[in-house]
Amino acid sequence: MKNKLSKTRNGLLCLLIFLLWMPSVKAGSSTTQSCTVPAHDNVADGTSFYLSGLCNQERVNHWWAVFNMRREDWDNGFGYDDPCNLDLPLGRTFAALYLLTYSAEDYARTTSDFSGNALRWAYPYTATNAGKLQALCFKPGSSPGQWAGWAYGDRIELYIPFFYGFDVVTRAGTFLHEARHNAGKSHDGGTGCPRTASCDTTWSYEGSNMYEVLYLWWFGVDGTRTTTAIRNMALNRARAVHNSAFNTSPGFNI
Ligand SMILES: [Zn+2]
Repeated sequence: MKNKLSKTRNGLLCLLIFLLWMPSVKAGSSTTQSCTVPAHDNVADGTSFYLSGLCNQERVNHWWAVFNMRREDWDNGFGYDDPCNLDLPLGRTFAALYLLTYSAEDYARTTSDFSGNALRWAYPYTATNAGKLQALCFKPGSSPGQWAGWAYGDRIELYIPFFYGFDVVTRAGTFLHEARHNAGKSHDGGTGCPRTASCDTTWSYEGSNMYEVLYLWWFGVDGTRTTTAIRNMALNRARAVHNSAFNTSPGFNI
């Protein structure tokens, strides 16, 4: 699978090349995806606050290794050669990973330390269960824009809506959500919740939606190395998932 993220003109050029090349491609062989960087606001979505924290060789090396990241998954416009660029998917991923890693005042020093509350164990849990992180324009076989990410058991694919449609703390919560899937917990609520997709039956099922809300709530009330605005983004996302992603409402207020 080769991916390309570029400005519109290059994207069209790539598409034309692909169309010319396509007649010789057999079904099931690799395909080229093409997409563009959408409008976004790094200050409004909280991303820019984390620039100095993420732009650190030692940290980048740590995340690159922990999440089994590969050049072929993050090249071709996704940011491999420019990891501190917050306009590209790789930099936006690292911003969210910085937030997740350092959420707690006494953050876990190792990825095997699961003690403390969700604010503290969210990163070790994600690091242990996520598997490989990969960037694509969209989920193969779906409409572009339909999905933000997808967990496949041993890897997580991230798509354009994740990189540019989510604020920085929602991206961090999504890592934990997808890691919960890869730990073996699927959605069990079918289409039976208000948002009619990715539903869990109840809070006590302890699924991806519960983990996401729990972490975001903790971050909203006690997150550190952040701003009040970003804590409020966390609470807003927590409320939205709480109100829309459970077949039976958890029944408390956030
Ligand atoms: Zn899910």
